Amino acid sequence: MRARHYIILFAIALSLFGCGGKAARPTEEVAHPAFSGDSAYSYVARQLDFGARVPGTEAHDSCVLWLTTQLERFGAQVSVEEGYMSDFAGEKQRVRNIVARFGSDSLPKRILLCAHFDSRPWCDEDEEAAWYQPVPAANDGASGVAVLLEVARQISLMTNDKRPTIGVDIVLFDCEDMGTPRFLGEMDRQDTWCLGSQLWARDASLRGRYEWGILLDMVGAPGATFFREYYSEQMASPYVQKVWKAASELGYGHIFRNEQAGAIIDDHYYVGQALGIPIIDIIHLDEHTGTFPRWWHTQQDDIQQIDRATLQAVGEVVMSQL
Ligand SMILES: [Zn+2]
Repeated sequence: MRARHYIILFAIALSLFGCGGKAARPTEEVAHPAFSGDSAYSYVARQLDFGARVPGTEAHDSCVLWLTTQLERFGAQVSVEEGYMSDFAGEKQRVRNIVARFGSDSLPKRILLCAHFDSRPWCDEDEEAAWYQPVPAANDGASGVAVLLEVARQISLMTNDKRPTIGVDIVLFDCEDMGTPRFLGEMDRQDTWCLGSQLWARDASLRGRYEWGILLDMVGAPGATFFREYYSEQMASPYVQKVWKAASELGYGHIFRNEQAGAIIDDHYYVGQALGIPIIDIIHLDEHTGTFPRWWHTQQDDIQQIDRATLQAVGEVVMSQL
């Protein structure tokens, strides 16, 4: 994903739920939704075992197969939706989005949960020697996917009477991180990013299908902080409030900071624009700089940057919305 106008950040908006940026301690016993950060961690590690999941590589092929198999095992109806998009160089890029559906299509409401599973082919924020190395993409890709796999596993463990009363569609986007490499010094066109979600959201039959949606991106780092991202607020302000409030009630107000942040071009932007649904992005921004963390698009985005506790917090917050 790509950051746009990083400004403003941290305009104070602390009044909504009391303690805002401080760790909110639940005053009474709060029931935590079932979710295993350990299991999510193992799903990050498994994705990294394939190697970088760069489109067109064997690691990417193997990962697509593994993800579809896992989601089928968890009882979802799974399809791989394939097509082609032009990349930054004007080359045809094969795109495979993975769609897993839980709950009958006749349910009156559905939620969209999404993340991207591809790895960026270039460490273009790293030292020059690493520019043509792929990003291991533990956070920037695998973490969001891992949380959603664990959500799927948790749904599979529920007895019928405990299952979500809304339909849940998990969509794993391909080719999110194919945007123009910075070292080429060319104009970075924003539509060179998020190719998978741009392709997927062209499907007119999806309009009206979702009540709302959540995108997860870079949700596994130790000490991660999530702010109220600009486009999320523009497209889905009531849902941002609902999710951040749920996080605060679960005791995760120190991670989900009730403060505004800048605008990020990410899959939620294209999905929200094309389908007209409210959709929010839970994405890590550094609490001091307001920009992406130092390991972003470098070789350091590896398993060392993954913390079970962060995955646990994000997973519980997502589960609380089902
Ligand atoms: Zn990225």
